[in-house]
Amino acid sequence: MCGIVGYIGFRSVSDLLLEGLHRLEYRGYDSAGIAVLADESIVVRKRAGRVSELAALVQTQPVEGTIGIGHTRWATHGGTTDENSHPHVGGNGEVVIVHNGVIENYDSLREQLTALGYVFHSQTDTEVVAHLLAHSYIEQLKLVENSDTHAAALKAVEATLTRLKGTYGICALFRDATDTIIAARSGSPLVIGVGRDEYFVASDASPLVGYTQEVVYLADSEIAVLRRDNMSITHRTSGSVQPSIQTLEQVSSDIELGDFPHYMLKEIYEQPKTIENALRGRLDDEEGTAVIGGLNLTPQQLRSIDRVVLTACGTSWHAGLVGEYLLEEFARLPTEVEYASELRYRNPPITERTLVFAITQSGETADTLAAMRECRRKGHPTLAICNVVGSTIAREADGGIYLHAGPEIGVASTKAFTSQVTVLTLLALYLGRMRHLSYPAGKRICRELRQMPEKIEEALKCHDSVKEIAEKYAGFDNYLYLGRLYNFPVALEGALKLKEISYIHAEGYPAAEMKHGPIALVDERTPSVFVVPRCGIQPKVISNMEEVKARKGPVIAIACEGDREVERIADDVIYVPEVAEYLQPLVCAIPLQLLSYHVALLRGCNVDRPRNLAKSVTVE
Ligand code: GLU
Repeated sequence: MCGIVGYIGFRSVSDLLLEGLHRLEYRGYDSAGIAVLADESIVVRKRAGRVSELAALVQTQPVEGTIGIGHTRWATHGGTTDENSHPHVGGNGEVVIVHNGVIENYDSLREQLTALGYVFHSQTDTEVVAHLLAHSYIEQLKLVENSDTHAAALKAVEATLTRLKGTYGICALFRDATDTIIAARSGSPLVIGVGRDEYFVASDASPLVGYTQEVVYLADSEIAVLRRDNMSITHRTSGSVQPSIQTLEQVSSDIELGDFPHYMLKEIYEQPKTIENALRGRLDDEEGTAVIGGLNLTPQQLRSIDRVVLTACGTSWHAGLVGEYLLEEFARLPTEVEYASELRYRNPPITERTLVFAITQSGETADTLAAMRECRRKGHPTLAICNVVGSTIAREADGGIYLHAGPEIGVASTKAFTSQVTVLTLLALYLGRMRHLSYPAGKRICRELRQMPEKIEEALKCHDSVKEIAEKYAGFDNYLYLGRLYNFPVALEGALKLKEISYIHAEGYPAAEMKHGPIALVDERTPSVFVVPRCGIQPKVISNMEEVKARKGPVIAIACEGDREVERIADDVIYVPEVAEYLQPLVCAIPLQLLSYHVALLRGCNVDRPRNLAKSVTVE
């Protein structure tokens, strides 16, 4: 996780770094800091807490300069203290760095450096890199011609990286190489913004928006040296690299809050539009199928597929579960959904006829990336369902489908989930129509999908009633979320949302499975949220509701308008529009997102920046 930003140019760097850190704060917000290179000295300002607290510090203790680096942290090693905040200074102030990732061999490096006399001021793994760089720099300075500080700095970076095990995105400033930023990556993302007489570097493109549209995505094992008027990139083993400059499409209003009090609410309300964007140009009503351009596999190859593996983490894994049901129903393709963190270390049988999809909003999730790489290493074509264009997973995948949902800033995923489900529905339709799914069925699915933006708009009308219900239940500390078939993953997702932003214990379960254990939790203080729209299995779910009521458990039901039977049993009902069963996850997710949002607000939680979490999980 964590956000890195760096700048070299002519602008006042501390303002620019603070603005960049604000935009990157969704990636981590345990602490924040900046380092500015001014008058051949390095000035650091850092503190535990949010970027706004750092901004207040910088206001009272300003730093002037036009070269600097900044960091917003999601702690992995060492508590959230001022000392552990980045940037970290190496040696006697020869170098300062910011780091995203985990240095796995930090313990032994720390021992070696301590023996050499280096004094550690933090508990982080990062500080070993700072001291190692300083140590290496001093050694290199003796070796390079004319004590060239720039050459020594680059050689010090190269030498240091060979000693690191783990993952990193690093930006470094050397006190005596006054007009240079050096950036390097292995496993953690970095993007370079190319301006006129200025360069930017950041964990993602958001800090660049409004300054430049020209970007270069740094690849693993690459080192970039940025000066005001030029940039050079080298690969650690293959030497000099010709940078490939790409154009950024993001528009700045996408990352602004507008009239909404929180990004989460803004993103919930964007869903009619984001689902429309996911569908745009991808429905062929004439043929009753989907148009999916970027898989880079021939129809023959796709027809020979006999199994699908979907791998993901968190909310994306829940979308994957909906995908499993869809692919098995429409395309009759046996599908497995694997936690990426498990798949990367397992060795499941995957044949040449297995199609692997990595599902990720950010395209940077460390575990998903590693799982994808593991499959690719074995020669399997691996595709991505991803939101962020140009992200590492999008670039490394053999093909894939973009969500086109726009930036998702709220740490709890909302619109990315519904877009992932939409795209998986399109995929199931596409692969289904290559197999047994009939023409009339394909046409009907196209028609039903087209209505979804409107249905989501209708679902959002539940907002006021959800708010009232949240007031009634915000004081409860344990919840169950229950649903069956397509609504089981929705129950899991609803429970995850509540946990993430309200810090309330919530369990998602298949409604019928509840009686094999979780029913023991039911009492007057444990509400059960039943996802129970009209569907073939609804009578069974209604029986499960009765079982909870019989044990005095309060019941909140997500149901279709006018469903008298549900109204009779449930204590409170939130209504969603009626849609085909396979589309119910899309409409039922809406009230659950709103419920967790309002419960979190009522409990005084920070909905966009929940504790202990970060948006883009770029550490293992
Ligand atoms: N491992 C480093 C730390 O704990 C960096 C974590 C991050 O990527 O934010 O400080």
